[in-house]
Amino acid sequence: MSFADSLVQGLRNLVDYTGGLVSPTVRLGVTGLSRSGKTVFITALVHALIAGGKLPVFGAQAEGRIRKVSLAPQPDDTVPRFPYEDHLAALTGSDRRWPHSTNRISELRLVIEYESRSAWSGGVSTLTVDIVDYPGEWLLDLPLLDKTYTEWSRETLALARVAPRARLSADFLAALAALPAGTAADEGTARRLAESFTLFLRSCRNESVSLSSLPPGRFLMPGDLEGSPALTFAPLEAEEGARLQASSLFAMMERRYEAYKTHVVRPFFRDHFARLDRQIVLIDALSALNAGSAAVADLESALGDVLKAFRTGRNNLLGQIFAPRIDRVLFAATKADHLHHINHDRLEAIVRLLAERAARRAEGAGAKVDVAAIAAVRATREASAKQGRSAVPCIVGVPLAGESLDKERFDGVAEAAVFPGDLPDNPALALDPDSEGLDLRFLRFRPPEPERGADGRLRALPHIRLDRALEFLIGDRLS
Ligand code: GDP
Repeated sequence: MSFADSLVQGLRNLVDYTGGLVSPTVRLGVTGLSRSGKTVFITALVHALIAGGKLPVFGAQAEGRIRKVSLAPQPDDTVPRFPYEDHLAALTGSDRRWPHSTNRISELRLVIEYESRSAWSGGVSTLTVDIVDYPGEWLLDLPLLDKTYTEWSRETLALARVAPRARLSADFLAALAALPAGTAADEGTARRLAESFTLFLRSCRNESVSLSSLPPGRFLMPGDLEGSPALTFAPLEAEEGARLQASSLFAMMERRYEAYKTHVVRPFFRDHFARLDRQIVLIDALSALNAGSAAVADLESALGDVLKAFRTGRNNLLGQIFAPRIDRVLFAATKADHLHHINHDRLEAIVRLLAERAARRAEGAGAKVDVAAIAAVRATREASAKQGRSAVPCIVGVPLAGESLDKERFDGVAEAAVFPGDLPDNPALALDPDSEGLDLRFLRFRPPEPERGADGRLRALPHIRLDRALEFLIGDRLS
């Protein structure tokens, strides 16, 4: 490349980087643990904007000021593009299925042309929104940066020995107990232990347990690092002197843990997280509520860790790596269409209380925080079923083939009406550590039948409060 070429390239990068000079840009992070609804959320949000869906609380749209929304090439060539078209085709195609979930970072650029509210600015303005989708598991790695291998091992093993993890960790702990004192470094042993540890972490995520706080994040969501040595470690009991021996298994694990922090965790925070302006954290709160108080307590602890990532200032860990610039965070409980609308506010109140308690522990989050209960895609409608003399509020949808409830097995074609259960009026009751878990009945439903307008174009999908989320996340940038 000639000097002139590199100068031009440099200027291009500068213009892109300082995008604000040309067209204001918002980098919007979308995160949440696996299956929390990131893929569905981004697909539905982009389609709602492009198709001009009903978004009454999203001011710019409701006021008819949005002229055009289109996709544009993303700024980062090395980050995969979010496959929006494939996901939309899955949701709205003839077999109406949920798209494949997020398992790595991806990006999508949206360009919104809008009329500004202030008449004097006249004409049409442009806002570029870069959506960055990444696994929430990676965000929960932040506390590792502050911990040595010995500290992390001690904490992880202590947690593994108490409820609710204790009944899932037996195989891994047995494998550890079988290691003779002073075991020498050996690849086979390291791999076996890492596999057993990963299986344990995975079992903590399954539906009936539904725990949230499970670092290291790449063990569950390896992205492109699947099978790499950076992920071949596990916590070990501290042994007197073992660490000093460079040839010990302990020293080998410690080196890999440090390499994981240096080569995986830090670059993610520096190269991706640090560049975000706004963030939505999707939470499958209903699954945690359904699994019981231990899952809810774990979710609260994970939210606290997430909030720590948004604290600004030089004195905290992140401040030393970069200056975080996220100024708005939305915690959104997803899949609210699994509940009757009388419960939507209750779900929101529960998440608000959870986030507040977590915020208090995280000591003064720097960003403005809000919560919402949403369904990016509403797969159900409401009805009331007669039970004796009273009417029971139900939701109606087409359960996915293979779903079952009370011995009934669904075929993926027939509709069913379900009484999903009620959330308590008082949110504190849902978070009560002595509670057994709520008696909620969830079925997974197929996405709704897509509708087309007279011109044959696909209409935006039905949703719950997607417009509120949009207003909080980018509304002020379109005024
Ligand atoms: P990700 O792993 O965070 O990307 O999660 P996905 O977006 O793939 O969502 C995981 C699953 O949750 C989907 O396959 C759906 O079954 C369900 N889901 C996500 N969002 C919604 C929603 O808005 N409504 C309903 N009914 N189900 C949803």
